[in-house]
Amino acid sequence: MEQNELLIDLTSIVKSEGMEINVNKEYPIEAFSEFSDMPSLQTPVTLTGTITNHAGNLFLKGDLSFRATFLCDRCLESFEKDFIIPMEDTIAREDSGLEADEFIPYQHNMVLLTEAIYKCIFAVTLDQQLCRKDCKGLCPVCGCNRNETTCDCDDREIDPRLLKLKELLK
Ligand SMILES: [Zn+2]
Ligand SMILES: [Zn+2]
Repeated sequence: MEQNELLIDLTSIVKSEGMEINVNKEYPIEAFSEFSDMPSLQTPVTLTGTITNHAGNLFLKGDLSFRATFLCDRCLESFEKDFIIPMEDTIAREDSGLEADEFIPYQHNMVLLTEAIYKCIFAVTLDQQLCRKDCKGLCPVCGCNRNETTCDCDDREIDPRLLKLKELLK
């Protein structure tokens, strides 16, 4: 894969206020290999949206779609999930005067979005990920997967204030 296949050409909009281009680009899994904490992708990432010139600044508004593997936060089983997440960013020249974390820089009318896409997708991993909405999780006592088996463990929540007392009464 050539890096330059991932570039988006902004030539037609950089100089013209109000101009817009459609973006529909596929980023192969290897495009993100340098980002070690990227979720494990099962498909390329597709970006669809627009880049618009508003008063000389370029605004990207689109959606990222991809499929990735996660470990369920409750039962720890791995599962695949399809995502469509919004992506919005400002694209500007390096000397735009904006703070570094406020924009994606472009050069020679070309912009590379892989790092910004990675950041967007990484943010998803900070949310709770469940294999299904009603995942029953692991039994805190015996550790069995309650989606697959049932156990007779008594796992009623103990009031933490009573823990000490319970300990003393043993
Ligand atoms: Zn689960
Ligand atoms: Zn149990």
